[in-house]
Amino acid sequence: MQEKIIDDQILEKMTLENVFKIFNDNVFPMLNEEEKDYCNQLQEFCLELNPKIDKSKDVYVLFPELGKHGYMQRINLWNDFKPYGMKKEILLGTHLSMLDSQLELGRLASGILCGNPTFHYYSHGGTGDTIQKVQDELMSGQKIGCIGITEPNRGSDAVNMTTIASKDGDALIYNGEKVYTTNGPKADYFCTYGVHSAEDPRGTMVQAMIKKEFGVRTERLKINSVPRVHIAHTFFNDVKIPREYILADNGQGYVRLFEGLVPERLGIMGSGIGICWAGLIYGIIYTNLRKQFGKPVVRYQGVGYGLADLLTKSTAATSLALQAATIYDDKILFADKPSKEAEKWVAGISSQGKYYTAKLTHEICYEVQQHMGGIGVTDNSPVDELTDVSKIEEVIGGSRNIQLLLIQNQIQRYLRLI
Ligand SMILES: Cc1cc2nc3c(=O)[nH]c(=O)nc-3n(C[C@H](O)[C@H](O)[C@H](O)COP(=O)(O)OP(=O)(O)OC[C@H]3O[C@@H](n4cnc5c(N)ncnc54)[C@H](O)[C@@H]3O)c2cc1C
Repeated sequence: MQEKIIDDQILEKMTLENVFKIFNDNVFPMLNEEEKDYCNQLQEFCLELNPKIDKSKDVYVLFPELGKHGYMQRINLWNDFKPYGMKKEILLGTHLSMLDSQLELGRLASGILCGNPTFHYYSHGGTGDTIQKVQDELMSGQKIGCIGITEPNRGSDAVNMTTIASKDGDALIYNGEKVYTTNGPKADYFCTYGVHSAEDPRGTMVQAMIKKEFGVRTERLKINSVPRVHIAHTFFNDVKIPREYILADNGQGYVRLFEGLVPERLGIMGSGIGICWAGLIYGIIYTNLRKQFGKPVVRYQGVGYGLADLLTKSTAATSLALQAATIYDDKILFADKPSKEAEKWVAGISSQGKYYTAKLTHEICYEVQQHMGGIGVTDNSPVDELTDVSKIEEVIGGSRNIQLLLIQNQIQRYLRLI
């Protein structure tokens, strides 16, 4: 805190511990005993880590701490860290966002966006221990990963990518550029998509785990809202990738791209929910304690009803995310035979939920700042940092209109049902 003006008696209540108490009051009734135990452990971990976080340092110094507890991701089973699954991942993202929303962004890019493809590689019959080693390094937080999909001229139209992966014996040579590579400037591994032919991206897409040492060059982009996360413009100039680092070739890269999007969007919902609750709860604590004209400002309708509206939306987004994750776990991830019906539903709901939650993070944080008055925009409360991170939630993982486009496609198909 550069200069403290917030009242001491209010400041001492604006703690992460109190955020968790109010979060639990709202969310625990929706969870079973195993899930509550898991959250309690997460909260203990967060409360221990919180005082050690130096906000003048990049988030990456904290990755090994997450890794030690199996918190780089929790969708997949790694090193016996249980429980796991999509619901546990959502709850992980939610808690880490409440702890440190920038750390959560970096964690999601490394653990999920780069890490998930290493699990998919083996579930699709991949062999050898090269990718296992990459997975262990990423999951332990010892190494940093990122994903390269977006290109300077291929954003929303990601499938029509122009990064060329040419064959060189059983190796690949990458040439192209990616942008907005979260963690890129610090990354050891770049899970990057390319195509053999730009004319046939679907039929020729490739997914490879590219080591920095293979010759990847990055330049950091300046993105004010997440100063502790490094985001890159990434260059592949005749970068040679040995066979054992190729995760999916000859069009299979396209299958993996889409396989990755659903968990990615559900995961972003988890991060978003954490931002919603943290922003809202700090606002609730402050406005209950801040007095003007002789009474707490929350008692003025203009403030109290506004917060009531935001609480309702936050609960709605949370129950949607938890329900989507439950269906994903029960009917897809842990099912003997994944349900086609559930797969279709979850793909649609991941877009709806990502769209709704991402937008809500910004609404909640911005509105809470207005309800708090001046303190909300200073560094005396954590809400301004949450607002900053909320600005990028709608862009990452496919922008607002792309989610709406997917939802609209679904609406158009309904004529077939009638
Ligand atoms: C902080 C940050 C981190 C990111 N991290 C990563 C990462 O780690 N890896 C990665 O690969 N990418 C990453 N991205 C990229 C992100 O996924 C893209 O920014 C996003 O997909 C949008 O692409 P674009 O920015 O090129 O916008 P454009 O595609 O140029 O879109 C511009 C505008 O047009 C709209 N639009 C585009 N097409 C349509 C359409 N068909 N219908 C209606 N509206 C449309 C968009 O909604 C948007 O409003 C990140 C972005 C940011 C900002």
